[in-house]
Amino acid sequence: MQLNLDSGYTMTVNGRAETSAQTFDVLNPATEERIATVPDASLAQLNEAVAAATRAFAQWSETALERRQAALLAMADRLEEYTEGFMRLLTREQGKPHADARAEVGRCVAWLRATAARDLPATRLDDGAGRVFETRHVPIGVVAAIAPWNFPMTLAIWKIAPALLAGNTVVLKPSPFTPLTSLKMGELFRDLLPPGVLNVVCGGDRLGPWLTEHPGIDKIAFTGSTATGRRVMQSASGRLKRITLELGGNDAAIVLPDVDVRETAAKLFWGAFRNSSQFCLATKRLYVHESIYDEFAAALVEHARGVVMGDGAQPGTGLGPIQNRPQYERVKDLIADAHRNGVRFLAGGDIPQGKGYFVPVAILDNPPDDARSVVEEAFGPVLPLLKYRDIDEVVQRANDTDYGLGGSVWSKDLALARSIARRLETGTVWINHIHAMSPDVPFGGRKQSGLGVENGLEGLLEYTSVQTVAVLGDEAA
Ligand code: NAD
Repeated sequence: MQLNLDSGYTMTVNGRAETSAQTFDVLNPATEERIATVPDASLAQLNEAVAAATRAFAQWSETALERRQAALLAMADRLEEYTEGFMRLLTREQGKPHADARAEVGRCVAWLRATAARDLPATRLDDGAGRVFETRHVPIGVVAAIAPWNFPMTLAIWKIAPALLAGNTVVLKPSPFTPLTSLKMGELFRDLLPPGVLNVVCGGDRLGPWLTEHPGIDKIAFTGSTATGRRVMQSASGRLKRITLELGGNDAAIVLPDVDVRETAAKLFWGAFRNSSQFCLATKRLYVHESIYDEFAAALVEHARGVVMGDGAQPGTGLGPIQNRPQYERVKDLIADAHRNGVRFLAGGDIPQGKGYFVPVAILDNPPDDARSVVEEAFGPVLPLLKYRDIDEVVQRANDTDYGLGGSVWSKDLALARSIARRLETGTVWINHIHAMSPDVPFGGRKQSGLGVENGLEGLLEYTSVQTVAVLGDEAA
């Protein structure tokens, strides 16, 4: 196939390209220029997508697992072929540097392949009293996959791949801020799947609620903010739709006094600021032992000075813009709040004039625990550096949040680091590194960071229901 990634953004409904009467513009956040005009789906078009997915489910759910695995492998190969094009498009719509965009496309390919290698487990229990219990995992039906704008490709593929492998059909809805890569993935995969198996719809604020409330949807896989996650859960309650919610975070990093300060500061700089901190798992509160606080702060600030912020398409750019204007305004408001409350900035704090939603890295010097920058998920490059004295105290402060997504502990004493990690009320804790993820390892949030997991066998099984067939008098089978 010949895919033109620069124009012609259409939805995929029932295996066909679909435009719409209404449209909206998509901007490049580095320049604020319009880069595309995309369909704004009507309710009738969404109904058609759900109906197509429902029709396709009858056959796809009965298709042999090997064929579904082969389809995912073909999708991976096709996407890999277009790596450079998707990298450029992702940078244009999302803002992230080319290197990060290329890594994101590579991750999608790797995740498709790893998911394709999975089987669906089945068990058989003979109870010794003439009864045999056969348990298997069956697909749920039509999955609504809803993605945010920070990792638009990764978070779409994390849903599409396991949903399809398990035998479900999908209606994918990208964020209206970053719909281009999803629309083009729909086009890219169109001839690799039967019509209706993967539908991609695109629209503004009405579309998410239409989709989650739709009676034809059986499962919602959602990544986004905790506030929206609550609304999704409400929409799901009427028909007891299955849900997976991957929501916000306020991750703490805890740095013990025995670390190599420069090395740890460098790693945590990227742990906090990669993707301009628009990362659910970004380090959002950085606790450093008081005995090394000043040295650590100096190393972090020095690192910040060496990183270039700019258009992600330019060589040498390390950090791109904030992805969209509402988020840009929120981050600026957080900075203004810190200024108003007399917090000292170790770096950043000024917003440059000119085009693009650029916010320079801001590092705050030990703000109080009830400061907005400590309590709220910034989702932008505003990092509170916090001093602590003893371990019980820092664990208590790290856990003093409604969020429970990730966190990290840094120390040469691995036994101590492990014991601290176990006390953190989060889904993932890294020790002496950060953000390593694997398609084979489940990932999810505790507390108000989510419900259920993505990735790994556990993530795959979230796209299934359990069915047990209990047979009497079939011991020999
Ligand atoms: P958001 O909640 O505003 O939007 C997420 C998606 O939901 C978008 O596609 C949006 O159009 C859609 N949506 C909005 N209102 C809806 C509704 N009422 N019903 C259904 N869908 C609706 O989130 P965002 O601002 O795009 O993303 C940032 C948030 O996502 C942050 O809080 C971040 O921590 C979180 N996030 C979490 C993870 C994770 O895996 N836990 C990963 C990435 C981002």
